[in-house]
Amino acid sequence: MNLHEYQSKQLFRQYGIPVPRGMTVATPEATAAACCALGGASWVVKAQVHTGGRGKVGGVVQVDSQARAVAEAQRLLGSRLVTHQSGPAGLPVGTLLVEEPTAIARELYLSVLVERESRQVLFMASAAGGIDIEAVATANPEQVLLTRVHPAAPITDGVQPFQVRRLGFGLGLTGDQIKALGQIMAGLYRLFMACDANLVEINPLVVTARGELIALDAKINLDDNALFRQPHLEAQRDLSQEDAREAAALAHGLKYISLDGSIGCMVNGAGLAMATMDLVQIHGGAPANFLDVGGAATAERVAEGFLLILSDPKVRAVLVNIFGGIVRCDLIADGIMQAVCRVGVRVPVVVRLEGTNAPLGLRMLAESGLAVRTASSLSEAADLAVAAAVTR
Ligand code: GDP
Ligand code: MN
Repeated sequence: MNLHEYQSKQLFRQYGIPVPRGMTVATPEATAAACCALGGASWVVKAQVHTGGRGKVGGVVQVDSQARAVAEAQRLLGSRLVTHQSGPAGLPVGTLLVEEPTAIARELYLSVLVERESRQVLFMASAAGGIDIEAVATANPEQVLLTRVHPAAPITDGVQPFQVRRLGFGLGLTGDQIKALGQIMAGLYRLFMACDANLVEINPLVVTARGELIALDAKINLDDNALFRQPHLEAQRDLSQEDAREAAALAHGLKYISLDGSIGCMVNGAGLAMATMDLVQIHGGAPANFLDVGGAATAERVAEGFLLILSDPKVRAVLVNIFGGIVRCDLIADGIMQAVCRVGVRVPVVVRLEGTNAPLGLRMLAESGLAVRTASSLSEAADLAVAAAVTR
């Protein structure tokens, strides 16, 4: 789960990481009021969407009058911002962050993330901040400084002074700036651990004209598997920024990920789902989604999964692959029949059931009169589904 920039900056404040003064607004009128409340004669208006690259497409603009701020608010609010990271549909802008402007001397990059290979917490820093860090890491990897903290180190002294100095000198910082970097890194580490984050990123971390360090942007990605113990963070989830089908799946406890292909896959168990996607590819097709209805799939969950898949206009055939271990195949067949009756089928459906009560389930489907094809092996099912999707 991602947080918005303004939510991330609120956490930064709590952990002693300096950020510009700012206010969130959702209307042009409130934008004018925020300019007044912040004072000064210019402001930065920032669209709050779950994507980077906003600056390049007019999602981050500096304005020199209240009238311009209101005009930008009118332009942005209710629009969809398309960036190089957002996908062609873009993301809806419902909230703006209005901030006091910062006089920038240098733009740095600083982040902290889980590094799976080392099983440690990795700090990444670069003097080439502000722009695509991925491009820097690829073209000039020597410009990315790394240092690691063992996650079992006591939280208060997770980041060691020598690590701060190494990154600080590497970034070209001096005296007090290195001290400030130490505070920021310590705050980042405590925040990272306390929030169960996967990634906390500051891009750019700015050296101001007065030589101070301040986080101009903020991005936080949280570990979904730890959200149960972060209810105050989960409450900040903004579903408008997420794939609508993935969000609906989440609400029903289904694991669903949108993909680009044409074959909707409904499978129980993540391993079987992966194998099913592989088989679809081997038979020359492409999956439209990953969907794990859970090892203990119920008729209701199957029905919900079915509705979800059929709501995707890319889907030209549906492949159901259920192994009845804990679950009984006749109940699954019942779920499929319920779903097909509820929405009506507009695409071919191929079902492969195996395990407990599989013959009964397959017979129920065959006798239902519904346009459902059954298959006895996984390979045959994939083959039928791919053929059905192609010939449509
Ligand atoms: P992103 O493009 O989505 O990553 O949005 P950022 O918050 O990183 O802003 C993009 C760029 O806008 C930054 O790299 C800065 O160069 C610029 N910017 C953002 N806020 C300010 C500001 O207060 N003053 C100035 N001069 N530039 C800013
Ligand atoms: Mn940025």
